[in-house]
Amino acid sequence: MLFSKLLIPTLKDAPQEAEVISHKLMLRAGMIRKVASGIYTWLPLGLKVLKKIENIVREEMDASGAQEVFMPMVQPKELWDETKRWEKMGPELLRIQDRHERDFCLGPTHEEVITDIIRDNVKSYKELPLNIYQIQTKFRDEVRPRYGIMRGREFLMKDSYSFNIDEESLQETYLLMRDTYKKVLERIGLEYKISAADSGAIGGDSSEEFHVLAENGEDTIAVSDSSEFAINTELLLKEGEDINSLEGKPSPDGNGTIQIKKGIEVGHIFKLGKLYAESMKANVLNAEGKASTLHMGCYGIGVSRLVAAAIEQNFDEKGIIWPHSIAPFDINIIAIGFDKDKDIASASIKLHEELTDMGYDVLLDNRKDGYGAKMKDSELIGIPLNIIIGKSYLENQEVELKGRNGQSSSNPISDIKTILDFFKDKK
Ligand code: ATP
Ligand code: MG
Repeated sequence: MLFSKLLIPTLKDAPQEAEVISHKLMLRAGMIRKVASGIYTWLPLGLKVLKKIENIVREEMDASGAQEVFMPMVQPKELWDETKRWEKMGPELLRIQDRHERDFCLGPTHEEVITDIIRDNVKSYKELPLNIYQIQTKFRDEVRPRYGIMRGREFLMKDSYSFNIDEESLQETYLLMRDTYKKVLERIGLEYKISAADSGAIGGDSSEEFHVLAENGEDTIAVSDSSEFAINTELLLKEGEDINSLEGKPSPDGNGTIQIKKGIEVGHIFKLGKLYAESMKANVLNAEGKASTLHMGCYGIGVSRLVAAAIEQNFDEKGIIWPHSIAPFDINIIAIGFDKDKDIASASIKLHEELTDMGYDVLLDNRKDGYGAKMKDSELIGIPLNIIIGKSYLENQEVELKGRNGQSSSNPISDIKTILDFFKDKK
């Protein structure tokens, strides 16, 4: 892709409204622009990252045996009355009316819609377990939208809902989803913790959150320094503990000492039990031919929030340092003098073609700017590998390789293999 043709409106300085680093860098790198409070447009570069995360989530969900659907964002009040959440949800639920003055809301979550479909279409325990997911826009009229897309009002979520015949089967699906979320975060390449959590407005029997550890995290979690033990302090507060006296104490699981960390909640998995199925009368026939209330689980990943969380964990003073798995481009060919020198232009176009054919996502910076300006943009955007074609190419057919991590080397342009080995090593 040619840089000169892309809408990548990079900025030297971040607008004042941006408080945290991910918001600042997403604005500066030209990834997003604000439309209204908590509502953003994803520009080409931002959308590329969002889609890469979406694909990893989709691949892992499909591999787990879950099935993808696409539910409406607009939902009728009647369904929300059945679970009493039309009243319970309060002002976070954005309510609208159609031309016939019928009440609807913009979906903040989809338990009611999916349970309605399953109760109408699944009749026997033999059709279970089912795990249905979608990747879709949610709307929550957050009291304090902030930090850009980290806490938006409109955001992208992968939500899934499992339907099981009994507690044992629910436990199996729950653990499968827990494992799937681990795979997603490990494929993206983020450091995270799984913590016991408060189930909030979704409710249910118990839940766990996936936290990406970062200084700007809104959640405070107590973690053990030598085991997997982690708990959201929100839950401790609810149980009447005082958070600060935790720090330095032995971990309740008997392994190590408690440390207090900041985390960004990127995923939340719930064992709902019969909560929704009972109020919505979702039954199937069990092995004895009797009506049996379904057990449910629900599982959410903040797809758009993950973009910001990845930045909060990976940046320096120059800009974003993407984990390779979700970088908007793998390689940036920085052509110095593209507009003036035919040899530079043709060599960089050829290299772009070759690397693209090999399956890499390649950007060719063919703009008129000099090396400094181009490199600054590339570092801001966070592309893992730069290949610079300029003077050394004209003199002795060499290109310079520069990793976003500071590594560099010079190689003959014909030596694509070395170029890619360099890239692989640094992955
Ligand atoms: P929070 O505590 O951050 O408000 P939540 O517990 O209300 O989130 P869930 O209902 O568990 O959120 O939603 C599942 C996932 O959706 C969350 O783990 C988070 O990653 C994402 N998410 C929730 N609210 C937002 C938001 N306002 N902006 C972006 N992502 C969000
Ligand atoms: Mg949550």
